[in-house]
Amino acid sequence: MPTLTRDHFIPQGGTIGIIGGGQLGQMMALDAKYAGMKTIILDPTPDCPAGQCADDQLVAPYDDRRAIEELAARADVLTYEFENVDLAALEAVADQVELPQGTELLRITKDRLREKSFLRDAGLSTAPFRAVKNAAELTAALEEIGYPSVLKTCEGGYDGHGQVVLKSAADLAGCDAILATKNCILEGWVDFDLECSVMVARNANGEVVTFPVSENIHQNEILHLSIVPARISEELQDRAQEMAKRIARKLDLKGILGVEMFVKEDGAIYVNELAPRPHNSGHFSIEACDFSQFALHNRAICNWPLPAPTLLKPAVMVNVLGQHQKGAAALIKQKPTWHFHDYGKAESRINRKMGHVTILTDDLDATIEEIAATHLWDN
Ligand code: AMP
Repeated sequence: MPTLTRDHFIPQGGTIGIIGGGQLGQMMALDAKYAGMKTIILDPTPDCPAGQCADDQLVAPYDDRRAIEELAARADVLTYEFENVDLAALEAVADQVELPQGTELLRITKDRLREKSFLRDAGLSTAPFRAVKNAAELTAALEEIGYPSVLKTCEGGYDGHGQVVLKSAADLAGCDAILATKNCILEGWVDFDLECSVMVARNANGEVVTFPVSENIHQNEILHLSIVPARISEELQDRAQEMAKRIARKLDLKGILGVEMFVKEDGAIYVNELAPRPHNSGHFSIEACDFSQFALHNRAICNWPLPAPTLLKPAVMVNVLGQHQKGAAALIKQKPTWHFHDYGKAESRINRKMGHVTILTDDLDATIEEIAATHLWDN
């Protein structure tokens, strides 16, 4: 399938078509508005978070060919806010509209096995892994990798969904639903000291820049806190950023990419996962940096020059899930310096990302304690 490779500069007034209308699309659309770009969202939910901030929304399923064709016809450049985009539908319009991220990036990142194989071939360290299609292959893979390990579905998993931690043979009973997908990966457990991520942006001219390293703390397998800069040595921060740049170049990235990593006590850094889009752990950049992850994504896909973002002040970002939403709204009156975000989702559910709060600070530890002292995020 021929793809456009004109690497066009998209000027102000141009239209960005975004597949997916959640909070990531919303923050892309808000940044685009500041910069004088137009946005059209494709999402099945009327008045979705991104649709509320965009110039227009096509209300249709993500894989609706006719709707994607309409989006391609009306936009100057096409992007997406999640990796589970219908590849065939994108390929079908790749010769009609600028698609700077291409389809290869998605092909690699939507499948954990392909992603880990790519990372290994690019010379980066990952957890040891084996492909697993059935119970017999799981037994064979466990003989090589051993316990503890984690069995994951290759496609479609998020926030801990679609994975089972295997500490001993007793845990094998819980693997049936994952094995039923017939496309799984067994990973050795990495005994890490902390988790971090680096957002990296690259444009068609090959300019590549990274954001400061974010230290990520999860609760119930969902991102809870991002602490920036990560509380690791500068040498480790530099190394993590260099790894992200290397991945961006190897992928011929055009746009933004989140690189999730494990840092071990001995200083080894393992890449866990790639997200070919803005990422929750990069939200701090809206207030804490001179350019946000959304600004650099939009610049990168429109082939504008890329500034190296600067951290203006250390920051802590805390996610607001459904169970925190009312409490966070009540904190507005008590915390005048906190930046409260709410994505405008119609339905609040437990563990659903409804908003986030970013706090700029000169004392990261004191701010983390201040967040804990509200007891809003105790569970
Ligand atoms: P993932 O969906 O791969 O991002 O995994 C969700 C979370 O599970 C990660 O953020 C880690 O905390 C943990 N995890 C996943 N894979 C591993 C692994 N191989 N070793 C240690 N922890 C892991």
